[in-house]
Amino acid sequence: MATERTFSIIKPDATRRNLTGKINAKFEEAGLRIVAQKRIRLSRAQAEGFYAVHKSRPFFNDLCSFMTSGPVVVQVLEGENAIARNREIMGATNPANAAPGTIRKEFAESIEANSVHGSDAPETAREEIAYFFSGIEIVG
Ligand code: UDP
Repeated sequence: MATERTFSIIKPDATRRNLTGKINAKFEEAGLRIVAQKRIRLSRAQAEGFYAVHKSRPFFNDLCSFMTSGPVVVQVLEGENAIARNREIMGATNPANAAPGTIRKEFAESIEANSVHGSDAPETAREEIAYFFSGIEIVG
């Protein structure tokens, strides 16, 4: 399996509780390298654009409010099989269903405030990385 890149967000519930370092340690322990990272505050339009695929879902409005409620850390993670590897260490969307040792099991507050986002496929990873980063900001 070749080296791959995935897009990650440390969500507002986690930045509020000062968990950025602990979550980054999980990525690094799993063999993922943080090759780009910035702390930003999403605008409503940026959050709605990012989650456009969920526009018709009942949780869309609340999710966009949550994602703009505080700072987020957007990241590019690189490593072998990075997309699947990151999904594995994030754990299930609902922390109640997340496996022991996963980020969401250890840190998430709820199905909405679940501490991290990670791309689910190569095409979405490419789109999500390009939504937030220019090539010059990613240093492998
Ligand atoms: N979400 C929510 N309620 C739900 C399902 C999802 O608030 O019933 C939020 C949650 O923050 C989740 C995000 O919407 O991380 C995107 O949902 P998705 O199904 O893509 O889950 P993920 O890929 O993040 O595990």
